[in-house]
Amino acid sequence: MGLIFNRKKKPNVNLADAAPLVLQRLVVLGGGESGVGAAVLAKKKGFAVFLSDSGGIKPEYKTVLEQYSVEYEENGHTETKILNAGEVVKSPGISDAAPLMQKIRAKGIRVISEIEFAGRYTNAKMICITGSNGKTTTTSLIYHILKSAGLNVGLGGNIGKSFALQVAEGNYDYYVLEMSSFQLEGVYDFKADIAVLMNITPDHLDRYDHNMQNYVDAKMRIVRNQQVDDAFIYWMDDPIVTKEIEKLKPTATLYPFAESKHGDALGYLEDRKMVINVKEHRFDMEQELLALEGRHNLYNSLASGIVAKLLDISDENLRQSLADFKGVPHRLEKVAVVKGVQYINDSKATNVNSCWYALQSMRTKVVLILGGTDKGNDYSEIEDLVRTKARALIFMGKDNSKLHAFFDGKTDAIEDVASMQEAVAKAYRLAQKGDTVLLSPCCASFDLFKNYEDRGDQFKECVRKL
Ligand code: ADP
Repeated sequence: MGLIFNRKKKPNVNLADAAPLVLQRLVVLGGGESGVGAAVLAKKKGFAVFLSDSGGIKPEYKTVLEQYSVEYEENGHTETKILNAGEVVKSPGISDAAPLMQKIRAKGIRVISEIEFAGRYTNAKMICITGSNGKTTTTSLIYHILKSAGLNVGLGGNIGKSFALQVAEGNYDYYVLEMSSFQLEGVYDFKADIAVLMNITPDHLDRYDHNMQNYVDAKMRIVRNQQVDDAFIYWMDDPIVTKEIEKLKPTATLYPFAESKHGDALGYLEDRKMVINVKEHRFDMEQELLALEGRHNLYNSLASGIVAKLLDISDENLRQSLADFKGVPHRLEKVAVVKGVQYINDSKATNVNSCWYALQSMRTKVVLILGGTDKGNDYSEIEDLVRTKARALIFMGKDNSKLHAFFDGKTDAIEDVASMQEAVAKAYRLAQKGDTVLLSPCCASFDLFKNYEDRGDQFKECVRKL
């Protein structure tokens, strides 16, 4: 079946249609990458823009705002300048529970995401990737495949330069966008021409009133507005995803992938080959030639391969790109081998499920460094793997009590540390030749580090000093 891109659904938001004829007031909350991008685009489109951030705004972003004469404030919100907005663009980092958000909603002001806003001003084809795990890897791989094949493609969403800024400054034919559940919450008329849903497992439950269905509903917004000529690619072995599909019956044409050939799978593994059957054409490639290793990465390659074949990328180009992709830092990133011990940085594993995949792909005994800011974790998911593969556990966090409550008595060696330096030093002593030291924390990093990149960078630095 051919995939024909249908025309963009025209937004029915008066405000956007009216601009730039009538100057409308757009308020942007959050002065980070997405907020600043949205503010610049809005300014270019003739809106009266006001940007407000409850914290500080980075100097480089202030320079951009000043360059475009965007009025802004930091370290607090002036409500009178916000509650008169025609529409609000909210950065994904701001929780709906914030008192200001409640006031905005009480006034009936529509709150949208940067993606929704920028989507109104481009007719490019949208390839949108979501899921609890694998978003960045899959988004980066799809971008790599499309770019290597010579398409005029931009990369955005949760990754790199904001989508809005690229719409303001460039004219791409395709965008590959990583979409978090927070960004999806703020989409209404936006449509993905190709939507990719990697999986749904518990994450960010602290932001969803500890109600899993709220989080699932946010993720499923990826299929919103899709028509039959659009594509929905998803992992069909995920019970939550398949249940939602039965319930929602998406209009888009479905392109499921799975670990093995069964049911309606159009992408799968067969005789150690990755196979893709799209548009009545079979593509295959030996799994060992794929640049990305591990079972979870097979899923990422399958989803990316389906996108590529829907966009008529040649088998040759696809094969080349799947083989030479460099991977993304902080995701199962091999750092160094020291005295026969392999050190792997998986700092981006900020939930239990991604740590499960990391442990599952290990072929040696593991000294696992985990811990940090717990997001409502249930560690039972990794219990069996810890029992069979872990030589030792190193708990690295300000408060390790939850980890102790769960793991004490389940493995021989457990150590507590309060810094990365200590963690790596302890791991070095505990690991035996042939082992792997794996940083795959299951938790957010904010108790001891700036962010997961900082955590991973510190790990790499400490390992290199060994
Ligand atoms: P995200 O952007 O969704 O957080 P990443 O691509 O950054 O995902 O990967 C985060 C972590 O999740 C990695 O450390 C990796 O171990 C794990 N992971 C990657 N792809 C998958 C997948 N398809 N399924 C489960 N876990 C995955």
